[in-house]
Amino acid sequence: MYVRTVDLRNDFEAQRFGNILEQEGIPHHIKSNHDTALDGIFQMELGWGYVMAPEESKERIVELYAEYRRSERSDSMKLIFLGPPGAGKGTLASVAKERYGVPHISTGDIFRTAIKNETELGKKVKGILASGALVPDELTIALVRDRLSQADAKAGFILDGFPRTIPQAEALEEFAPVDTAVDFVISNEAVVERLSGRRVCKGCGKNYHIKFMAPKKPGICDACGGELFTRDDDKIEAITFRLKVYRDQTEPLIAYYRGRDKLLEVDATPSPDEIQADLDGKLNG
Ligand SMILES: [Zn+2]
Repeated sequence: MYVRTVDLRNDFEAQRFGNILEQEGIPHHIKSNHDTALDGIFQMELGWGYVMAPEESKERIVELYAEYRRSERSDSMKLIFLGPPGAGKGTLASVAKERYGVPHISTGDIFRTAIKNETELGKKVKGILASGALVPDELTIALVRDRLSQADAKAGFILDGFPRTIPQAEALEEFAPVDTAVDFVISNEAVVERLSGRRVCKGCGKNYHIKFMAPKKPGICDACGGELFTRDDDKIEAITFRLKVYRDQTEPLIAYYRGRDKLLEVDATPSPDEIQADLDGKLNG
């Protein structure tokens, strides 16, 4: 007789754990609550679904599921960093890189390296970028996959700028499932305040911020007396546009990782040291 054994959290688990049962030769059915739900509320209360199997296999399945969950919580550090421009992701990634001893991998760097090394994929990317087009998903995926197969990325990595689309995220789950997608949470208002206050000296290139690192005389460089100006990227319209693009692109990804129980939200408004301490606590907790 078939009985309900373990509950599953999402379709990703259904696939993975189903494969394990397959390999173990344990007959089973995976029952999704999508099949049985009467409405959304009922569905949520029950979770994603469950495994039906012969009564005598129940103990073994419970054991295998515990093992599977442990393997999912490995000591590796396979991280994705998500966060809008102005969240300080670059600084955080370089601190985290030191701290966790894993490479910080951005798609921009991968593209540049591939182009410089004149690999097959690099030549393709070069042509596409030169034409002003976007690098298609499959090419980006191939390059990331290539990079993550290198020895230094075996124990972990921090991915920055990838994935940007659901197909990219799905591909990544296939060849290098991430442990955690860290979302650095910051409001649009705070981003605008941070970025729109930046000023650069026309003379020597020194950076200022009208609130956080103000020059002694407004609009004048302390170092060379040059005139300070706002870069086009830091103008409010440009920031607002970049934020909109970011939010549109990232919201589906946030939902994707939340659905896989892999999303970790970290407040990106305090100082980088405080953010790092918060991240440490949450990752090791
Ligand atoms: Zn100056």
